[in-house]
Amino acid sequence: MHPHGDTATPARTPPGEVWLVGTGPGDPDLLTLKALKRMRCADVALYDNLVSKEILELLPPRVERVYVGKQRNRHTLPQGEINRLMIALARQGKSVARLKGGDPFVFGRGSEELEALADAGIAFEVVPGVTAAVGAAAYAGIPLTDRRHAQACTFVTGQLQDGSIDLDWANLARPRQTIAIYMGLLGLPVLAAQLIAHGRAPGTPVAVIQQGTTQRQRVLVGRLDTIARQVERAGLHAPTLIIVGEVVSLQAKLAWFAPEAVAA
Ligand code: SAH
Repeated sequence: MHPHGDTATPARTPPGEVWLVGTGPGDPDLLTLKALKRMRCADVALYDNLVSKEILELLPPRVERVYVGKQRNRHTLPQGEINRLMIALARQGKSVARLKGGDPFVFGRGSEELEALADAGIAFEVVPGVTAAVGAAAYAGIPLTDRRHAQACTFVTGQLQDGSIDLDWANLARPRQTIAIYMGLLGLPVLAAQLIAHGRAPGTPVAVIQQGTTQRQRVLVGRLDTIARQVERAGLHAPTLIIVGEVVSLQAKLAWFAPEAVAA
């Protein structure tokens, strides 16, 4: 059938490609159709800890899964290694689905990965996803803008760097705007104190949403001057999205999502 068999010059492997896919904040029903399509026809999926188990279950069994996130006692696979792995897989002709929680371009380092692919001449595509702020706000019943309360919404990272957070506090402390804070749980005492010090009212409503959109969602509502203590008492853990602003007051009336009771 194949007269030249193995001795013939092998056909050049068609180049593979990488799809940078946002998988949303947790609820698998928030995946886009495009994300699901890409997940179904990938050869390999690379994922990290924000991609929920329920979403990984939507990968067909033949898709190879590679975890590239944080592990106990081990730090995240260094970004350079993830980049090298994606490039190597694509060069083997594979279609790689790089799955990222939320949206890949919102605090997701998506651009760094794409730059490495571009430098290596690998074809890529970006599939946007529902970012945590949008998903968690919706499931908590908090509109991010509302003409009566907030004309703007700013997404910021609240990650602590040597005990402080480098943000434009004067700007963020202005009224009539919502702040959606990613990665802010540890830094919450600093965040709240800085906003108050720069003039935001101590009574400004704040919501802390843990594991938003999932069956494990927890929502804690308080005020800027007491929220840090409340969070500590409640024992919340990451991932949490923090929303600061008057819009949070609407939650009391608009909360609609009741996770089904799950066994602990
Ligand atoms: N690219 C992601 C964000 C990655 S940064 C996105 O667009 O959503 C990780 C941070 O996102 C977490 O520390 C947390 O602040 C937030 N986050 C992600 N998923 C979340 C969820 N289900 N509920 C609350 N916060 C979440």
